[in-house]
Amino acid sequence: MFDLQNIRSQFPILNQQVNGKPLVYLDNAATSQKPISVLDSWQKYYTEINANVHRGIHTLSQLATEEMELSRRKVQKFINAKNDFEVIFTKGTTEGINLIAYSLTNFIKENDEIIISYLEHHSNIVPWQMLCERTGAKLKVIPIDENGILQLDFLDENLTEKTKIVSVNQVSNALGIVNPIEEIIAKTRANSDAIIVIDGAQSAPHFNIDVQKMDCDFFVFSGHKMYAPMGTGILYGKEEILRKIQPFHGGGEMIATCSFEKTTYADLPFKFEAGTPNVGGNIALGAAIDFIENIGQEHLQNHENALLDYAQKQLLQIEGLKIYGEKAHRTGVVSFNLEGIGISSDVGMILDKLGIAVRTGHHCTQPIMNFFNIAGTVRASFAVYNTFEEIDILFEGVKKAQKMLG
Ligand code: PMP
Repeated sequence: MFDLQNIRSQFPILNQQVNGKPLVYLDNAATSQKPISVLDSWQKYYTEINANVHRGIHTLSQLATEEMELSRRKVQKFINAKNDFEVIFTKGTTEGINLIAYSLTNFIKENDEIIISYLEHHSNIVPWQMLCERTGAKLKVIPIDENGILQLDFLDENLTEKTKIVSVNQVSNALGIVNPIEEIIAKTRANSDAIIVIDGAQSAPHFNIDVQKMDCDFFVFSGHKMYAPMGTGILYGKEEILRKIQPFHGGGEMIATCSFEKTTYADLPFKFEAGTPNVGGNIALGAAIDFIENIGQEHLQNHENALLDYAQKQLLQIEGLKIYGEKAHRTGVVSFNLEGIGISSDVGMILDKLGIAVRTGHHCTQPIMNFFNIAGTVRASFAVYNTFEEIDILFEGVKKAQKMLG
């Protein structure tokens, strides 16, 4: 049974007034709120267990290690990784992609090619540009059409033996478009030996993830967008590749032996987890997965899809309102502008006065904004605790903003 009131009651932060109005939180693609079970798990770690992991002989250290490793196994199950050591704790998607781009440096040479898409977040653009600068490789970009849909013919023409990496997101954060990654992966496997990286920052909170079925080489996501604390994230990598590539950060935890002459690296996953990890956050990420699994992913998806359909239907009644990617298959996000109102933050400020939290601007996707020849959009994004009444409030708020600014 999907009990929305019960779910909402687990998020005390939602039960407050902002600017004298009940908070309507629709900025979930930026970060989701955290349920009590996640906050409790985090607090329990700091009030009862707090100790450094892995090297400690004392009881608290062992407890902390057990709890964090239990969380790693929950993540393993959540994404259906073959082994728990293929799950690396990071501080988020950005760190995950930077880790991959750095660790692959020795495998990339001049004139090799890296393919990304037009729909990427800056964190799936800049680390590859930096890799190109280090190695002389070239960046190629899958184009989009006026609906924001990726033009996969590009892959037929551009996937060759020169292609070394293909890195795309499963869901676009700016537009909510669900990309056909199954097709992208199939084409890549058929036409090249490229390493496939999937940015799952916007898909892990909404979808069932099965990295083995997907057959990607890497899958990265952020905990804070899926009900876990900030500063948590996951990098999944296939064992064979993780064993081959060099570590990103050097330091404690990631060595097997260290001398001034030579250092050897620890086994997986520790080779990629230098320094003291975010133990409390990583444990609470496990609690966030429990939260999602207790609701049931099917219920969560059905509710979020219904919210998106309803929001789109309502907003399109507003004359002069344009939804970007309107005709594309989307999840969790509606991104729009009002005709004649060029500055999205003006709309965002009026909505804020009404207690409605949305994001405005370029959403760290300037190439998409340039494609549509706009400075930014107003983005409302949904989580499992949002209601249809909140969408009605958004609808009225946008109409009011249009009247005030038009
Ligand atoms: N990729 C996508 C698709 C995202 O939505 C985000 C966050 N907006 C990121 C990458 C970066 O995630 P983080 O800031 O948590 O590292």
